[in-house]
Amino acid sequence: MAFLKPMSKKSLTNLAWHAKNSLIKKREKMEFLDSHAHLTGEGDYDNLDEIIKNAKNANVTKIVNICTDLGSLDRGLKLSKKYDFIYVAAATTPHGADNDKDVFFQDVKKAVEENKLIAVGETGLDYFYGFEKKEFQRLFFKNYLKLAKDNNLPLIIHARDAFEDIFKIADEIEHSKAVLHCFTGTQMDAKKVLDRGWYISFSGIITFKNSESLREIVKTIPIESILIETDSPLLAPQSKRGKKNEPANIVETAKVIADIKNKSLDEIAKITFENANKFLFIK
Ligand SMILES: [Zn+2]
Repeated sequence: MAFLKPMSKKSLTNLAWHAKNSLIKKREKMEFLDSHAHLTGEGDYDNLDEIIKNAKNANVTKIVNICTDLGSLDRGLKLSKKYDFIYVAAATTPHGADNDKDVFFQDVKKAVEENKLIAVGETGLDYFYGFEKKEFQRLFFKNYLKLAKDNNLPLIIHARDAFEDIFKIADEIEHSKAVLHCFTGTQMDAKKVLDRGWYISFSGIITFKNSESLREIVKTIPIESILIETDSPLLAPQSKRGKKNEPANIVETAKVIADIKNKSLDEIAKITFENANKFLFIK
């Protein structure tokens, strides 16, 4: 017949350690990663330190700062020295593709070679405005795609009314380490993005009253393929529409995803944080 042995001092200590540890785990704070913000563009913010403080207070512990020209890249590199949780990505946007020629491309290439960038982007195609020559946009997109692939860096893609050409070019230079940022495409576009192993990033647009069809798409995207972003200073979420956006507002986008996916805000924060970490930091 078995009988209960009194607990040794060692197992009692172990028990106390586990209990304390699980309490610590429960108290772990929520954290968010803003995978796409423009912090250092000309005239974007004149109170950047305050904006960054707001982000910290909202538990945004990592930010990817998207730089789109030499000025924003210079300021971005300085900013990331001051704040080690702000990372730099750079590329010519589709809108800059016409007049920029390849000057900025050389700056980005140099920064990549010096290991200063966490990602290449945003680059891509935007046929909505249509004032830039499409062939320039395609040429730039191809060059940046190749740069990212050659250096095994994540690529941040901008696509508007141009998904067909995005996929055509991407299939010539296959690179599975990519995110379709600020997704506003169709269900079929989303499927094609996922087929290529890319992430889909949602911005404050999903919080807008009239974004019902986009929220329907969110419903169908596997949670492990979702990133979140603010695209600050643009696209302030519904409750702050018309104001300048900032990384602290990422929480509103996460809340909408939590509602749609029927999960807690904690879970959505954790999963999207892990997704972004995997995308950005694991080679
Ligand atoms: Zn952007």
